[in-house]
Amino acid sequence: MSKVLIVEDEESIADIEKDYLELSGFEVKICNDGTSGLAEALTGKYDILILDIMLPGVDGYEICRRVREKQNIPIIMVSAKKEDIDKIRGLGMGADDYMTKPFSTSELVARVKAHLAAYQRLVNTPENDVLEIRGLRIDKTARRVFVNGEEKQFTTKEFDLLTFLAEHPNHVYTRDELFREIWGMDSIGDIATVTVHIKKIREKIEADTSKPQYIETIWGVGYRFRA
Ligand code: CA
Repeated sequence: MSKVLIVEDEESIADIEKDYLELSGFEVKICNDGTSGLAEALTGKYDILILDIMLPGVDGYEICRRVREKQNIPIIMVSAKKEDIDKIRGLGMGADDYMTKPFSTSELVARVKAHLAAYQRLVNTPENDVLEIRGLRIDKTARRVFVNGEEKQFTTKEFDLLTFLAEHPNHVYTRDELFREIWGMDSIGDIATVTVHIKKIREKIEADTSKPQYIETIWGVGYRFRA
């Protein structure tokens, strides 16, 4: 269950926001002043922050700034004064959204949901899927290849062929098998295409193409990627 922190000194407003958010399945905590709001926000227990600007103790600007130093959770700032909202925009203080009071609770709930969904997508983005073999680095997600830190340009098929071999180290594949694997059964071409591509890949990744360290030729059979 997502946890929402509301920092709002007008208790009736805070209570209404809390009721609607709880009805939508959120767990909600209210702080009615800036000092306790800042302390609570910095505990890191919350998924989203709804922050009033004019508060006793520490104001909403300061809370936003301090939270941003530590966390990337969504922050929705609210104020009765349109000038405050304009000020936040102008300062670019890292709030994700701004709402002018009074606003409808259904709109608040919709925005909370939208920001949480966007944040979840951000934090759940997996790390790039990378293969590292000695000085060779294949970033499968970005489809980029680096040799000793230097990027090399690969065509689609060269990349697919290299990646396939690198993912199946020490396995000997015939050119026929590689052609079917990378180009597919129905492709037009012949197995000489594989030879040409292996040659081009070697020129990019091997220090000495006459003594390949990655893709070895197994004479009379095919190719093997050395783990
Ligand atoms: Ca206030």
